[in-house]
Amino acid sequence: MNIVACIKQVPDTSEVKIDRETNTLIREGVPSIINPFDLNAIEEGLLLKERFGGSVTVISMGPPQVESALREALSLGVDRVVLLCDRAFAGSDTLATSCTLAAAIREIGFDLILCGKQAIDGDTAQVGPEIAEWLDVPHLTYISAVEEVSDRSITVSRLLEGGYERVRASLPALLTVVKELNEPRLPGYRASLRAKTEPVTTWGAAGLNLDPANIGMKGSPTKVTRSFVPELGRQGQFLAGSPEEQAAALIAALRSARIVHGSAKES
Ligand SMILES: Cc1cc2nc3c(=O)[nH]c(=O)nc-3n(C[C@H](O)[C@H](O)[C@H](O)COP(=O)(O)OP(=O)(O)OC[C@H]3O[C@@H](n4cnc5c(N)ncnc54)[C@H](O)[C@@H]3O)c2cc1C
Repeated sequence: MNIVACIKQVPDTSEVKIDRETNTLIREGVPSIINPFDLNAIEEGLLLKERFGGSVTVISMGPPQVESALREALSLGVDRVVLLCDRAFAGSDTLATSCTLAAAIREIGFDLILCGKQAIDGDTAQVGPEIAEWLDVPHLTYISAVEEVSDRSITVSRLLEGGYERVRASLPALLTVVKELNEPRLPGYRASLRAKTEPVTTWGAAGLNLDPANIGMKGSPTKVTRSFVPELGRQGQFLAGSPEEQAAALIAALRSARIVHGSAKES
């Protein structure tokens, strides 16, 4: 089974701060990580390879520094990594990103494509399903378990708000995955050594049979008209003192907000 896992390098959101003047992310000095859901995609690829054989290729589109994320993927034991890096890709929205990734995945060849359910920075959850549309294969989102795999089909559980849905799709297909799917492994010793020296295949626009009208700025119909931090409609308040004092302060606050009525004794 030839598996392709798509990973995005994202800023570690636990470290991200907002510039209050410009309302933009302060990215300087913020460490980058592999999008957490994409680690689950890599792990599932490795687990399926262990069961059914084949190969796991990890692909990412981004600037040259994304190489470090791909080397991390190598240290987890994937067979091959591909970086899509070209000035022609700059300014891509999700449509142009998915178009570029789809062209490269077509070139690699695939039975199964694994993506995270969403990236923790862009957060649109569009890229996975869009790749499937460009490649004209079925896609299944929010996958929490892979149950059965045959030569021709895959049966999975989808995480819904109120439960799970069991679905089968024909292969080749694309899955977007949630954290519940598996526990990503730690880097292996031998794989980590290999990750330091293994070449990272880098592809630009030339050779990917891409229509220039579909990539980069030209292929990006999304326009960001304004970005802002939403105003908080409510505020948190910390109560200090002993548990009794905190309880009394809480009752007083609830009473002044007219959430509870009556005397302290009744409350
Ligand atoms: C008008 C516009 C211009 C933009 N210009 C730029 C720009 O110049 N530079 C820039 O860095 N970003 C730019 N972006 C952001 C960029 O389009 C998104 O970061 C990208 O398309 C991924 O979308 P997302 O973060 O919502 O991912 P999601 O759709 O939430 O990601 C879902 C999954 O898709 C896969 N995936 C997502 N992105 C990638 C990737 N790059 N490589 C491999 N797999 C991936 C991962 O498996 C991920 O878990 C721009 C966006 C817009 C709207």
